[in-house]
Amino acid sequence: MSPKNIQIIGTELAIAWDDASESYIALEKLRRHCPCAACGGEVDALGQLHRPAAPTYQPASFKLKRFQAVGGYAVNFAWEDGHDSGIFTYPFLKKLGE
Ligand SMILES: [Zn+2]
Repeated sequence: MSPKNIQIIGTELAIAWDDASESYIALEKLRRHCPCAACGGEVDALGQLHRPAAPTYQPASFKLKRFQAVGGYAVNFAWEDGHDSGIFTYPFLKKLGE
């Protein structure tokens, strides 16, 4: 499973998957689930996110600047507040959109 198309629509990320399903994820939700080490997130084998403490956010934290595919298995998102180390795997994005 991989994305055929990813777009930002308003405050949501819209992903069209190659199995013809679609996911809509609020950008704020996406950022709050950032799995990178700096955000303290850690995703276990079941896709559950564990996070020791809530990071500090600002309005720019929920605005997406750009995104790019990573190695054919994930997407990297860069946010307006300069944070760009989050790597979201396809299954994790799919789960966030459910
Ligand atoms: Zn992060």
